[in-house]
Amino acid sequence: MNGGIVVSGDAEIFDVLIVGAGPAGATAAIRLASQERSVKLIDAAQFPRSAPCAGWLGSKTKELLNDLDIKIPAKLTHAFKNVTFHSADLSKTARPNFETAPGILVDRNDFDLALIKQARSAGAKLAEGQPVAELQIDEDSVTATLADHGTVTAKLLILATGRSTHLFDRIGLAGGPPTTGYWAAEVRVDKLPLKKTPTVDIVLGLDRSGAFGVVVAVGDRLVINVHCPGQKSDVIPTLISLCRQLDDADLVPGNYTHNAARATVHMTPAAAALGMDTHVAKRTLIVGDAGGFVSAASGEGIYPAMWSARIAAEVINDAIDAPSPQDVLMQFNTRWRTEMAEYLQPPNTDLQYLLPLIFSNQPMTDRMGAAFFSGENI
Ligand SMILES: Cc1cc2nc3c(=O)[nH]c(=O)nc-3n(C[C@H](O)[C@H](O)[C@H](O)COP(=O)(O)OP(=O)(O)OC[C@H]3O[C@@H](n4cnc5c(N)ncnc54)[C@H](O)[C@@H]3O)c2cc1C
Repeated sequence: MNGGIVVSGDAEIFDVLIVGAGPAGATAAIRLASQERSVKLIDAAQFPRSAPCAGWLGSKTKELLNDLDIKIPAKLTHAFKNVTFHSADLSKTARPNFETAPGILVDRNDFDLALIKQARSAGAKLAEGQPVAELQIDEDSVTATLADHGTVTAKLLILATGRSTHLFDRIGLAGGPPTTGYWAAEVRVDKLPLKKTPTVDIVLGLDRSGAFGVVVAVGDRLVINVHCPGQKSDVIPTLISLCRQLDDADLVPGNYTHNAARATVHMTPAAAALGMDTHVAKRTLIVGDAGGFVSAASGEGIYPAMWSARIAAEVINDAIDAPSPQDVLMQFNTRWRTEMAEYLQPPNTDLQYLLPLIFSNQPMTDRMGAAFFSGENI
């Protein structure tokens, strides 16, 4: 049974408290609850919540979902193969060949909802619409104070709060959350008359930097986003300009420059995990965007969020009953670096020099496809 310990007259003490129920937090909850651990999963938002996301998941996410026995209803997923790389001015195109679909497209809001439903059916106790305002880490427990002044106590904590910086100083990590990566912004338009086949268009070398754009069309949904490594202030002009070019080239069914001008800019902590001193604080592990687990090559964040959470869940499961849990938690730093560092790091070559080859040489186009969607080295 996976209920927490209830000491007569006292509040329940959970094995694990997970703050943040995005892909990282929900994955850790599914994994730990399936191993008969008592889990409290808390999120400030009510689900389905709206998350900025093109909703593409590389093929490795599918493998991870299978490994973790996470079931996403088939009607929510659309395999895609129809991928086109474009040069920054949209004058050149190249189509990578894939033996099998390099990934699936999901509506991110539905996907996250499906994950937390599975966490609940595995036995995790979910509290939605409950921002954690304070965290207190003691010698043998962790206590969260919610915005409504309720408290939750657990033996160990997983911080999966995405790009929010709020709770970092409470866990006593001097470095704080990641502040390096890409700036990203997007336009999403629903109820459009789009082609039946899902398409993914990637615009490379935007802004003559490592910036890139992603255009996803699936069902009646169109998402256009840009990821820029430079200044935050570059992002909206880059998105507006891309929307204008896409309209001029008839690659999208309308002019979305007005939507682009109103878009919100987000920090995507691409590969920031590699620069963090530690992901282990007292009784705590940090996963997903909160730990900078995002691919530098593609901005893919869902897969590494779930992957880091899976490793964290395995480490925490071992730590709960250990005589010195903190010693076991420290293994997380080595485990994720061994398994994930190569995937997270930027391409081993300057993409600007490769661009002419990507548009003139099919094997190079195919390698770029594998690098973008499967995290392989180009
Ligand atoms: C524009 C854009 C497009 C993207 N497109 C893609 C894509 O197509 N494919 C892809 O793989 N990745 C994409 N990403 C990246 C991906 O969205 C993230 O990497 C992913 O959401 C990380 O998951 P997470 O669980 O770590 O964090 P999140 O999904 O951000 O979840 C964190 C949760 O923590 C909760 N939270 C925060 N603070 C508190 C608190 N104090 N108390 C309680 N709850 C709290 C939040 O409400 C939130 O629900 C994109 C990112 C951006 C910005």
